Amino acid sequence: MRKVSGLPRWAVLAGLLFMLAGCGSDSAPVKLQGRAIGTTYSIVAYNLPDSLDAQQMQKGVEQVVAGVNSVMSLFNPGSELSRFNAYKGEDWFQVSKELAVVVRTAKTISLLTGGAFDITVAPLVNLWGFGPDARPERIPSAEQIAAAQGGIGFDFVHVRTDPPALKKVKPGITIDLAAIAKGYCVDAVADWLEQSGVSDFMVEIGGEIRTGGSKPGKTPWLIGVEKPTSGGRAVQAVIELSGRAMATSGDYRNYFEADGKRYSHIIDPVSGKPVSHSLVSVSVVEDSCTMADALATGLMVLGPEQGIKLAEKHKLSAFFIVKTADGFAETATGNFPEHKTLK
Ligand code: ADP
Ligand code: MG
Repeated sequence: MRKVSGLPRWAVLAGLLFMLAGCGSDSAPVKLQGRAIGTTYSIVAYNLPDSLDAQQMQKGVEQVVAGVNSVMSLFNPGSELSRFNAYKGEDWFQVSKELAVVVRTAKTISLLTGGAFDITVAPLVNLWGFGPDARPERIPSAEQIAAAQGGIGFDFVHVRTDPPALKKVKPGITIDLAAIAKGYCVDAVADWLEQSGVSDFMVEIGGEIRTGGSKPGKTPWLIGVEKPTSGGRAVQAVIELSGRAMATSGDYRNYFEADGKRYSHIIDPVSGKPVSHSLVSVSVVEDSCTMADALATGLMVLGPEQGIKLAEKHKLSAFFIVKTADGFAETATGNFPEHKTLK
């Protein structure tokens, strides 16, 4: 018996966000929606400067998104990252500065999370059926897992930023930025909006969000943390977010079930298996959505005890939802914003 989850998290969250974003406004927002790095984006902005109309804003956003796609999307076989993955040599492979910086950030989060976050994890992701290849018909054997584990490790990719380049120090190693690229794309779009004079905005890509300024009348942006259930669609908590980013990692949307057990698309590189613990969702608030995205995934891998411990130690602003016998328990760490829990 296997079940593939239905609508992805972003579909719902985007809907909820629009509901929240739509309240209490007196001037009309500019709303944009489209596709980016294998998922969708939605943007709401108020008070465009005279130098920018809605059409120009859409064109600019599309250009930024196309740029990120051409660098780090694995859905695009011609992207820089796809070409690096296909490269068989062991020399430095020249890449754009942005790709080198994202890979360097990813390695920083790998070190911080003791290898829980690992962008070389693709062989395991594929083995468990969450990659571009077909889903496996059964759970992989211990030998298959060990073989895939032997081919991964974030230390086997070297990065330099000047001049920007990547290097494989183990033949066949590949990079998958799925757990950080959405956050990066949010930052790229948000930075572009700020540089173009738009200061009141909310950018959301695949559920990862960054806001700037506020809604009209200094009304804060309200962002919902989704209730981590695969069936219903509801908000667990609401926070005010201004000039910061929030990313969420969860095991409740993208998974399959076999023999009554749930297998998430988030893989623990240490065990070689999908995470299986009572932590169902982690949301992280950071200035940078790139950081928030990677940290959310890393903490999700670490699980309820180690994840919360690490978040407390480094004062990360995180919100953990743990499944209990009779519902969900919440733990907020660091400076996670004051939130209102909706029952
Ligand atoms: P979530 O939003 O639930 O964190 P993401 O889309 O950010 O999910 O990241 C999940 C994707 O990242 C997976 O589909 C896989 O491609 C990749 N991935 C899985 N496990 C890891 C890991 N331990 N470290 C980094 N990336 C991972
Ligand atoms: Mg992530």
